[in-house]
Amino acid sequence: MKFNGIDFDTYFNNYPDENGYFGKYGGVYIDDKLKAAMAEITEAYYSICQSRKFIAELRRIRKEFQGRPTPVTHLERLSDALGGKVQLYAKREDLNHSGANKLNHCMGEALLAKYMGKKKVIAETGAGQHGVALATAAAYFGLECDIYMGTVDIKKQAPNVARMKILGANVVEVTHGLQTLKEAVDAAFDAYSKEYKDAIYCIGSVVGPHPFPMMVRDFQSVVGIEAREQFIGMTGELPDAVVACVGGGSNAMGMFSGFLNDPVDLYGVEPLGRGEKLGDHAASLKYGEEGIMHGFNSIMLKDENGDPAPVYSVASGLDYPSSGPEHAFLHDLGRVKYDVVSDDETIDAFFELSRMEGIIPAIESAHAVAYGMKLAKTMGKGSVLINLSGRGDKDMDYVIERYGIR
Ligand SMILES: *Cc1c(COP(=O)(O)O)cnc(C)c1O
Repeated sequence: MKFNGIDFDTYFNNYPDENGYFGKYGGVYIDDKLKAAMAEITEAYYSICQSRKFIAELRRIRKEFQGRPTPVTHLERLSDALGGKVQLYAKREDLNHSGANKLNHCMGEALLAKYMGKKKVIAETGAGQHGVALATAAAYFGLECDIYMGTVDIKKQAPNVARMKILGANVVEVTHGLQTLKEAVDAAFDAYSKEYKDAIYCIGSVVGPHPFPMMVRDFQSVVGIEAREQFIGMTGELPDAVVACVGGGSNAMGMFSGFLNDPVDLYGVEPLGRGEKLGDHAASLKYGEEGIMHGFNSIMLKDENGDPAPVYSVASGLDYPSSGPEHAFLHDLGRVKYDVVSDDETIDAFFELSRMEGIIPAIESAHAVAYGMKLAKTMGKGSVLINLSGRGDKDMDYVIERYGIR
């Protein structure tokens, strides 16, 4: 399929290019020592991850450990409640082991680490979800795991810190600056530049320098490949629309990659938070501009000095001031439409899906549900496939404390 001059039949051969660019977005904007480490990972990725042995092993792990394929569920009662003309379906990444899509790329990254002969995986975490997923993968493969986390986040995210420790990870407290994610990123990169011979850095989304946006997309593509086949098996046709929430953009890229070459409308949903004012949302593609951060060129929210702006969302997994370079590319191209939903719409959808379908979604995923519900009201007829990126257990205490039971 051709779209705005891009041939999607051969898209994955051409994007990213050999330097890690999706159009003008992507690349490797880090110091020379780490550039060498990235080049090593890129080479390993092409030689190891395309090998039959690696693919077979990852496939077995997905089935026997992660519990894949995750099902697609027809949301019949919710569809009926919205008028019954549009049918909603959910891809159930909440049923992936550890409760979210993140394990899909963490298992791939950790398996690559093992094949490369590395002893350790390193990452930072903010809310702790990426740390828990990586600690899970490290435990499975018997790798050491250092997770860098700011003091403030360690205090706020006690259950996830406990999970990481139980899984055998080493949670390294970052005590400088604001003691949150930004400092944790710096500390993790710092450690990696000293330890890159024995360790591999594992990024938590389709962000960071090349090859991570490509690698994480490819590891997540299992979501879109499964969902496409399952949806056709259930209905005999393709969905009219596919919806996913976008923080860094890994669950969305995994889902969309299965449908880029199909006549299907793709929607990425960003968090509008409390409103349109800078600092009240994290809708980088909608309100941001081109810029470089965390080693890559993309579209980002900047403050008055041109630095990454403070962002906010009720979903801690979505409050990132940029999105992956491939999203920026697909945004400019118009192949994916990016739109926003607010905190309030999200919380309504959180309760609606729980009550109508018996599925408590992660607040991140509830953004996609909210948008799917909006589409159902405006489309007139057809079908919408929503990527339910994770389950809501982690959000329960917060939702009850802040919003009460509805
Ligand atoms: C972390 C997380 C996200 C956001 O990450 P992406 O890379 O944008 O997918 C979305 N949903 C859940 C459940 C998460 O844990």
